[in-house]
Amino acid sequence: MTSSGRGPEPDDVTPFPDALQRESHMNEADPDLLDAIVVGGGIAGLTAAWRLRHRRILLLEAADRVGGRMYSVQRGEYWLNLGAHLFPGPDSVVQGLVREVGLQTIPVTGGMMGLALAGRTLTTGSIDLYPLRLPLTLRERVAFARAGLRLMREVRRFHRDVAPKEGEAAADVRRRLADYGTDRTFADFLGTLPPRVESVFSCAAHRATAESEELSAGCGVALFAKVWAGKDSLDRRNLLGGSGRLPEELSKRLGDRVRVGAEAIGLRVDDGLAEVAYRQRGTTQTARARHVVLAIPGRQASLLLAAVAPAAASALGKLAYGAFLSMAILTGEAGAMPWDEVYAMATPGRAFDMFFNHAQPIRTPGRRSPGGSLMVYAGAHAADALLAKTDDEIRDAFLPDLLDLYPALRNLIVETKVQRWSIGNVFARPGRQPLTPDLERPLGPGGNVHLAGDHFANGGLGEMEAAAGSALTAADRIDRLLMAASG
Ligand SMILES: Cc1cc2nc3c(=O)[nH]c(=O)nc-3n(C[C@H](O)[C@H](O)[C@H](O)COP(=O)(O)OP(=O)(O)OC[C@H]3O[C@@H](n4cnc5c(N)ncnc54)[C@H](O)[C@@H]3O)c2cc1C
Repeated sequence: MTSSGRGPEPDDVTPFPDALQRESHMNEADPDLLDAIVVGGGIAGLTAAWRLRHRRILLLEAADRVGGRMYSVQRGEYWLNLGAHLFPGPDSVVQGLVREVGLQTIPVTGGMMGLALAGRTLTTGSIDLYPLRLPLTLRERVAFARAGLRLMREVRRFHRDVAPKEGEAAADVRRRLADYGTDRTFADFLGTLPPRVESVFSCAAHRATAESEELSAGCGVALFAKVWAGKDSLDRRNLLGGSGRLPEELSKRLGDRVRVGAEAIGLRVDDGLAEVAYRQRGTTQTARARHVVLAIPGRQASLLLAAVAPAAASALGKLAYGAFLSMAILTGEAGAMPWDEVYAMATPGRAFDMFFNHAQPIRTPGRRSPGGSLMVYAGAHAADALLAKTDDEIRDAFLPDLLDLYPALRNLIVETKVQRWSIGNVFARPGRQPLTPDLERPLGPGGNVHLAGDHFANGGLGEMEAAAGSALTAADRIDRLLMAASG
């Protein structure tokens, strides 16, 4: 990503200088002609590049590291996770990649359903009983229980009628999910609630980087369906060593076919070939290929696509994204701590929305190594407001609430690391979803521009499997087209 966290602006620079335009005829016999250029080095771009590694390819990544929103840094036996951390199940595309590059995921056994509210921290027991166990007023208890029941009923309906079925094509699932619950907002679905109860549900909506008033009811329900899958969830795994190891390892194996600090600033298609202009170390260069994969968030892809596929660019430009602001914390305790059995806890009404214990999956019974790794994040409007603050200001905003939550943390903080995600996640707003099936086909006059990324998510909430899965689909298609073209 650029330092501002945004992609190219339309008037940034002239991507194709006059000289280049004059000699634009792209010669098929050109030895510099690549099979594919992949724009974006997040998990989507790396998956596409990895699938096409037997071809002549180039991957361009604007930031000075690969991984995009999968980012972690090693600290001894621990790691600080700053972005995505929960990995999908064994049959997923992502797990396939993990195995292929010799990495390992480990189960998360700690509680995923913690809730800290009204001065009480609940980390065990049935969530059905949370309204009774929290020190709430009778009115709040009744409202909490009613809204919870309504949501549970809808989640059951979601699993029965809407969730993916065995063997169903991903595109069909996406089409059905795109139409689900788009008639109103999640806030409308929940109805009017007392402020403290409302804060519980809006805190959950912040996981989608949206406020309840922005999120479609369907996206809110799909989010709870996933969170409440509990122990049955296939997403209860972490990557040993940190999420960032997967993109790092893929990039290492792709070698000099990956170019970091290289921001794509222009795309055009001529004579059925694609030309990408990119800026690296202050100079503008171009690369040409038979196919291009735009594996970058929708808004950024929209800018590059404007001249090549205007309708698709317009649809991508309408996708809704919200912010995340995460802070990882390396701790220096000598022994057991009160959060040891917790993996994830919602913290409504605090400066951050969620608390995570990223050391939990590596704790083994009977042996408790000193130290640990925690993470907190804020999502949606609160995160947006923090983006412009300094790291120290963000730390000062988060730490009092963290110490109030767990006073035992005092004097144990060894390091904090702040990460701003101006493009934190994609989410579905009410109304017709802009991501039509048309975007799943080859785009542009040459039919050689392909999209990938987490905006191809089921239920309208971005996750690594949606990113990798859509990239694999695009790369498979490119490989087939290249094979057909070569006879
Ligand atoms: C705090 C946080 C927690 C999350 N938790 C989870 C989780 O637990 N599980 C889960 O599955 N998902 C989670 N996600 C979502 C997950 O991280 C994303 O869905 C996924 O990583 C998206 O991958 P991507 O490749 O589509 O996009 P990205 O990771 O955003 O990659 C896009 C890349 O393209 C680059 N780029 C942009 N424009 C250009 C350009 N013009 N030229 C060149 N390069 C460009 C960017 O720098 C970036 O590296 C989380 C996200 C965040 C932020």
